[in-house]
Amino acid sequence: PAGRVPAYLDGLNPEQRAAVEATEGPVLVLAGAGTGKTRVLTTRIVHILSLGLAYPSQILAVTFTNKAAREMKERIGAMVGEQVEGMPWLGTFHSIGVRMLRRHAELVGLKSGFTILDTDDQIRLLKQLLQAEQIDEKRWPARLLANTIDGWKNRGLTPDMVSAGEGAAFANGRGQKLYADYQARLKALNAVDFGDLLLESIRLLRENPDVLAEYHRRFRYILVDEYQDTNVAQYLWLRLLAQGSHNVCCVGDDDQSIYGWRGAEVDNILRFDSDFPGAKVVRLERNYRSTGHILGAAAHLIAHNEGRLGKTLFSEGESGEKVTVTGAWDSQEEARAIGEEIEALQHQGRALSQMAILVRASFQMREFEDRFVTMGLNYRVIGGPRFYERAEIRDALAYLRVIASPADDLAFERIVNVPKRGLGDAALRQIHDHARAVGVPLVEAARQLVGSEELKPKVRLTLRDLVASFDRWREQMAAMPQSQLAEIVLDESGYTEMWQKDRSADAAGRLENLKELVRSMEPFENLVGFLEHISLVMDAEGSGAGDAVSIMTLHSAKGLEFDVVFLPGWEEGLFPHQRALDEQGRAGLEEERRLAYVGITRARRFAKVFFASNRRIHGMWQSSVPSRFLDELPENHVEVTESRGGHGWGGATSAGRYGYGPSRFDEAQTFGSSYSTPGWQRAQSHAQANAQANAQNNSAGGRREGQFGGFSEGAS
Ligand code: ATP
Ligand code: MG
Repeated sequence: PAGRVPAYLDGLNPEQRAAVEATEGPVLVLAGAGTGKTRVLTTRIVHILSLGLAYPSQILAVTFTNKAAREMKERIGAMVGEQVEGMPWLGTFHSIGVRMLRRHAELVGLKSGFTILDTDDQIRLLKQLLQAEQIDEKRWPARLLANTIDGWKNRGLTPDMVSAGEGAAFANGRGQKLYADYQARLKALNAVDFGDLLLESIRLLRENPDVLAEYHRRFRYILVDEYQDTNVAQYLWLRLLAQGSHNVCCVGDDDQSIYGWRGAEVDNILRFDSDFPGAKVVRLERNYRSTGHILGAAAHLIAHNEGRLGKTLFSEGESGEKVTVTGAWDSQEEARAIGEEIEALQHQGRALSQMAILVRASFQMREFEDRFVTMGLNYRVIGGPRFYERAEIRDALAYLRVIASPADDLAFERIVNVPKRGLGDAALRQIHDHARAVGVPLVEAARQLVGSEELKPKVRLTLRDLVASFDRWREQMAAMPQSQLAEIVLDESGYTEMWQKDRSADAAGRLENLKELVRSMEPFENLVGFLEHISLVMDAEGSGAGDAVSIMTLHSAKGLEFDVVFLPGWEEGLFPHQRALDEQGRAGLEEERRLAYVGITRARRFAKVFFASNRRIHGMWQSSVPSRFLDELPENHVEVTESRGGHGWGGATSAGRYGYGPSRFDEAQTFGSSYSTPGWQRAQSHAQANAQANAQNNSAGGRREGQFGGFSEGAS
């Protein structure tokens, strides 16, 4: 009845309400962080259901993560009750793609029970293909091929669509054929990989007009969250489906586009208008999440990016606490300081679940996990494995475990053929049989087999080397610091090299993690003590239940919010990440800045930024240069504080606040005199040059590519 506003619309502002009520026709909500985009989507679904415009099964709603999908379901459920159970098409692109393919498997040449390959299976398959083609895997690793193929799939390219030029990207022009072979093998195995979930769905819809028509009838309403991070394949898929009802509502924020490295295209936002003529564009400008200071700091930071669509963002709430910037002496002190702040906040009655630590790189988690276990502080790692559970860390630990306790068969099995050294399943089975027959651990069985004629000569040689290596490492165990031993083991075993040769996107991160592992061993007197410590940390796993602090990467924090957000590691080379700095052009750096913007805008009440003046690398102190993003935070919204840990980094000065200015460095240098600081000189001149470039560019209002890692130098 006219005049009565349903409860779920209560409290929405006029623009939000317009976006909710404009159910018919294309709608694009383009708005900054925390303006209620996700809330609009959720409410829109409730609205559609309440008005009876569609059955739950007729709504297609796409979220970025499964966690986001669950949360959306919960919220809708809270408003409409059980109806939400009937929403099978609410999920991620991948989960919806699977569902679609399962229904029509035969039409794309699959059988209904097809399997979905994980990355390991995918790599194994590609290795076989490379061998069949006699392509040197040392030069052209399977992981690189996997990456190349994923890239094509993200862009919606089937093998026949890959151009000659692109095909040349792998093994001198054989990429395209390998891609085609790979797809053929997948079909033969009745399997798909992740990229296929969308690519095959697109093919299904394109090649089967009747199926497309069925989905056009079915999906009366289509909704997409985090639209700025869709890739081309996802976009094509959406466009195909939306051509039916045209009732498509996408919400996004170009300033939060942080998956460019995975093929996401912000331009999809711009295309929306041309693909859906007459689209209603709604802009939301009021931020409901963060206090004034937090929002002010974030807005000022992101204003340093060029090529933005431009949005207004304001908050009507209190201005709250300023964003704090705290310098710590090193990463250990950073972790200690954050741990103490968390405890202090806890004593004030804040739930741990309302606090999060958002890191740029996964290796940073190690210091926090160790610290929190020692403190007995409950934490949870979101969106990925905990540090010591990562595959590369488990591998490295397996080597160390075999050294420390030769009877550790599980550890031995894990690494006997990692990196690949020709000790395949057959060899392992022989070792196993022998071990069982004589009742000794696997390493011992291996040693005995080396001296017998049972094994193939080549296998015997390899095994002899491996056993000899373990003997040698065991001798060295007592003679050198454990971290040094670990480094030797990782080098001599070829494990580090394996990742160095790997050109896939995550290899660099894995190498960082391995370095962090070595670093983490420094305080331990012996290997056994270190391994005990690890089991302790691993054992704390169960404690992730209940109230816990969240630790996650900035990337996986997208869309989430917390009362208190800690942002550690704001240092040049870490954040912005070195990879972005090494890149040509500004794109990488701008994506890093958007990541910083995402980080700050996760906070409701407190945003606490940290940087460490020193990172210990290979037992040596290396000074780090505070992130340029720190100087891009506006002074009036920021408070520079001392780390509580005691010997902090020194406090604030107004000019070159965090070390870009010479004064900062003089002070820090004096302070650090008791340590060896080989990096200071270099860092200092780098920082000063950056400071000048910074000043010039600020006044010139533009940024140029320069010699400082893609950062600006020399004004117009
Ligand atoms: P992000 O860009 O980070 O994904 P968003 O635009 O999706 O943010 P939401 O997560 O939907 O924003 O909303 C941010 C916060 O503001 C949430 O806690 C939400 O409940 C609250 N909020 C949104 N709209 C309103 C409103 N009209 N009144 C009160 N609170 C609101
Ligand atoms: Mg959102």
